[in-house]
Amino acid sequence: MNSSSTNTRRSFLRQSLALFAGGAALAACEKKQAPASTTCPEPTGLSESDLQLRTTLGYVGTSAQPGKECAGCQLFTAPPAAGPCGTCSVLKGPIAAKGYCNSWTAKT
Ligand code: SF4
Repeated sequence: MNSSSTNTRRSFLRQSLALFAGGAALAACEKKQAPASTTCPEPTGLSESDLQLRTTLGYVGTSAQPGKECAGCQLFTAPPAAGPCGTCSVLKGPIAAKGYCNSWTAKT
């Protein structure tokens, strides 16, 4: 084996190790990023009566009613882009697709 082929092999191994280390660092970086949120922020800028209506109708961001989520409610409008928050024709403020309130009405 001549020194030229040894250098080529070493060079290949170095480049392979560098690629592997770079991939491992990228994977570690991706793990540190927070997962996409599935909940909506608390409403801001709503009147007291609008906030009270959310409470009165028992709105929750995560439904405890099997098969009944805002996404399946006739009164829900999905967000224009992919995301967890839509709007509701009864309640003001952000509405979670996985939420629920006592006015839930099945989509027809
Ligand atoms: Fe959700 Fe209630 Fe609005 Fe229906 S009426 S979309 S269940 S908040």
